[in-house]
Amino acid sequence: CINMTQPNSIDANQLRKSFPIFEKRSLIYLDSAATSQKPKIVIDAVKNFYNEYNSNVHRSIYDISQEATEAYETAREKVAKFLNVDKVDSIIFTKGTTESMNLIAYSWVRHNLKKDDEILITEMEHHSNMVPWQLACKDVGAKLKIIPFEFDGTLKHPEKYFSKRTKLVSISHQSNVFGTINDIDKIINLAKKYNAISVIDAAQSVPHFPVDVKAIDCDFLAFSGHKMLGPTGVGVLYGKPELLENMNPFLGGGEMIRSVQLNESTWNDIPWKFEAGTPNIAQAIGLGVAVDFLNEIGMNNIHNYEKLITDYALNCLNEIDGITIYGNPPNRGGVITFNINNIHSHDLAQILNDDKIAIRAGHHCAQPIMNKLNVSSTARASFYFYNTFDEIDLLCKSIKKAIKLFK
Ligand code: PMP
Repeated sequence: CINMTQPNSIDANQLRKSFPIFEKRSLIYLDSAATSQKPKIVIDAVKNFYNEYNSNVHRSIYDISQEATEAYETAREKVAKFLNVDKVDSIIFTKGTTESMNLIAYSWVRHNLKKDDEILITEMEHHSNMVPWQLACKDVGAKLKIIPFEFDGTLKHPEKYFSKRTKLVSISHQSNVFGTINDIDKIINLAKKYNAISVIDAAQSVPHFPVDVKAIDCDFLAFSGHKMLGPTGVGVLYGKPELLENMNPFLGGGEMIRSVQLNESTWNDIPWKFEAGTPNIAQAIGLGVAVDFLNEIGMNNIHNYEKLITDYALNCLNEIDGITIYGNPPNRGGVITFNINNIHSHDLAQILNDDKIAIRAGHHCAQPIMNKLNVSSTARASFYFYNTFDEIDLLCKSIKKAIKLFK
């Protein structure tokens, strides 16, 4: 492969030192689209919570409970600022993107859609941006309409699929299979034109480039903390406050109520109306620290670095005989999905694993994409700012080794 120097703004070798896992084991981790690795300061924030001020939030007046509440609510403020959201109460902590989507499906769709209304999604969605709408449509008798993808991994003429019956459109900002960065401005404008609610699955975008919610002006946006250096078990749903205020709760229980009588109850203010029970306190605090870490590196720097490393990887991979790379979107992030002739992706992943290279093999929670590509599974390499150009060389070398083995 051609020699490329890394830009000064990101020194991946230096940044890797903040991640204990890379110090502890020899690991070429190319599966950040599934989950990212965690820097020490995030791990420490979780540990400190349990070691030093473990307690429940919003309940007690003693010191450690006040500290926990403050740390938890500060994490919410950090997330709001990260997304350029003015109203902190429009940030709801959930378990992750999946739960955020289900919250909308239960609390908005099931109360606002009726028979023959339409929900619009695309054919390239992750199952978590597909199955919740399938379930909700069945319950209310609405129709799920699909914008198909082209084989280059892009969406053509999404406007053709909108109608006056479209009540909600939900689309991934960046595909977890093709890496396509979809033109969400276009989709959100179409949603406004048709008076539909817009939902953005930002699981693969918020971790990798600046997402300015005020500028894109969507109605809802969902993502997962664990893909952006945070702990597992915490994610976010942003919603426009006027929508959230008028929505029914998702889960019932403690925290989400204002008053409870034996037969009926009234609801707490947003965001707590949607955070029933004891929340993921340590995880949310950890996510706040992850946001600090990302801010320090700079989201634009991360995006630019990932563009370079992805271009480099595409160049190297394209030189390999017998490779099929799925999709070739002009605007893409650091996700490359491929197959090698005559090698099942699971076998390839196994051989790469022998070289300590972690890639994903399977359907990537996107079976409709696999069906259209006419494959049962694919290999996927995905990158983050802690990956180096040397690692890409080793990936290609290991793939070539696999090809020789299978000859
Ligand atoms: N949407 C996309 C585009 C994803 O890549 C993922 C995770 N692979 C999800 C949704 C679901 O995220 P989670 O499993 O964290 O809920």
